[in-house]
Amino acid sequence: MVAGSVGMAWQGEGNAEAPDDTAARALLRQAGLRATRQRMALVDLLFGCGGRHVSVEGLHRELLGLGAPGSISCVYNSLRRFSEVGLVRRVPVYGATSYFDTKLDHHHHFYAEDEDHLMDVPMNAIALDDLPPPPLGYELVSVDVVVRVRRERSAKPVRPSFRSGEGAS
Ligand SMILES: [Zn+2]
Repeated sequence: MVAGSVGMAWQGEGNAEAPDDTAARALLRQAGLRATRQRMALVDLLFGCGGRHVSVEGLHRELLGLGAPGSISCVYNSLRRFSEVGLVRRVPVYGATSYFDTKLDHHHHFYAEDEDHLMDVPMNAIALDDLPPPPLGYELVSVDVVVRVRRERSAKPVRPSFRSGEGAS
């Protein structure tokens, strides 16, 4: 996948804190988008510091915080275009919010409903070996699991982390 390898190349480009303009421009050119100030800032936010999950609304807020101009529909269009060329992956979460993931390998997600954010489920933690055959005339494309979670009611605030065991105390 050509687009994916560009994303990787981005992450492998030395230890620079922020990607330089040239790389951002190259990514935008690849996506067939003009390098506007907003899109450059968008690329910076998405790929500048490792993998992340973003919603259109959240990313728009971050952009405004950086003083970058632009509408929410412009953010949405850019993200949709990025996902079409394989720079980000759209995560199907039931509801009104669209989520995009900069991690391109296929993986599943926890969705914290009350906090409205996504976390990766560790690789191979979900076994999907007993799927029904697709309906006649259809073929399987992919299975994307979203495990809905919420904070335990009595829980002390802790960093979100995956716990494989239960009852250990
Ligand atoms: Zn993810």
